[in-house]
Amino acid sequence: MSSIVLFGPPGAGKGTQAERIMDATGLPQVSTGDMLRAAVKAGTETGMVAKGFMESGQLVPDSVIIDLIKDRILEDDAKNGVMFDGFPRTIPQAEALAEITPVTHVIAIEVPDERIVERICGRYSCANCGSVFHDLFNPIGDDGCGCEKWQEKRRSDDNEATVNSRLNTYHEQTSPLAEWYRSKGIFHAVNGDRAIDEITVDILAVLER
Ligand code: ADP
Ligand code: ADP
Repeated sequence: MSSIVLFGPPGAGKGTQAERIMDATGLPQVSTGDMLRAAVKAGTETGMVAKGFMESGQLVPDSVIIDLIKDRILEDDAKNGVMFDGFPRTIPQAEALAEITPVTHVIAIEVPDERIVERICGRYSCANCGSVFHDLFNPIGDDGCGCEKWQEKRRSDDNEATVNSRLNTYHEQTSPLAEWYRSKGIFHAVNGDRAIDEITVDILAVLER
C-alpha cells in the first residue's frame, strides 16, 4: 500500500491532473475539498464546522481534516493507497498522514500567483461526475464531460476576494510543507504553467522513478 500527494496552490491543476492520472496509477482521488463540500451540502456536523472557514478562504482545523482522512483510508477502494489532492496542507496534517499511510511521491504543481486568479475565476465542473473545465483554457467540448447528467457547477469560493485569501493561507501555512517533504527525499516539482497534457506527461514520468 502506498499513496501519492498532489501538492500546490489553489487552482494549480491538482484535480485536473488527478482525473488524468487516475487510470495510470489505479489509485482513487481523495480530495479533502470535495469531501468538505459534500459535508457542507449534507449539513453534517463536520460540514457545519467547515463552512465558515471555507467561505473565508481559511483552513479547516487540522483535527477535523485528520479525522476525515482516517475514516476515508479505511474504505475498500483505498486498500492499495490513494492519490491525495489538497491534503496535507499543514505540517501537523503531514505528520498525522505519516502515521496513517506511507507516501511514496509528493508531486508539486508549481504555478505563479499571477496565474492563479484567472484560473480559479474561470473554473467550472460537472456537478455529477466532477470533471473540471475552464472558460478559456479548458472549455467543455462538443463531446461533453463524458457523463450523461452534465450539470454546470461553479464554486461559491471561486471569486477574486476569496482566492487572494486562499493564496495567502497557502503561502503562510501550506508552502512550508515543500521543505518538509524535500527533506524526506520524496518531493518532485513540475512546472504547472504549461499545457495540461505536458504536465501530465511529466507527472507520469515522476511516478515511474
Ligand atoms: P486545483 O485542484 O489545484 O484547485 P483545478 O484542477 O481545479 O485546480 O484547476 C483550476 C482551473 O484551472 C480549472 O478551471 C482548470 O480547468 C484550469 N487548469 C488546470 N490546469 C491548467 C493548465 N495547465 N493550464 C490552464 N488552465 C488549467
Ligand atoms: P483549492 O485547491 O481550489 O483551493 P480545495 O477544494 O482543495 O480548493 O479546498 C477548498 C477549501 O476547503 C479550502 O479553502 C479550505 O477551507 C478547505 N480545505 C480543503 N482541504 C483542506 C485541508 N487539507 N486542510 C484544511 N482545510 C482544507
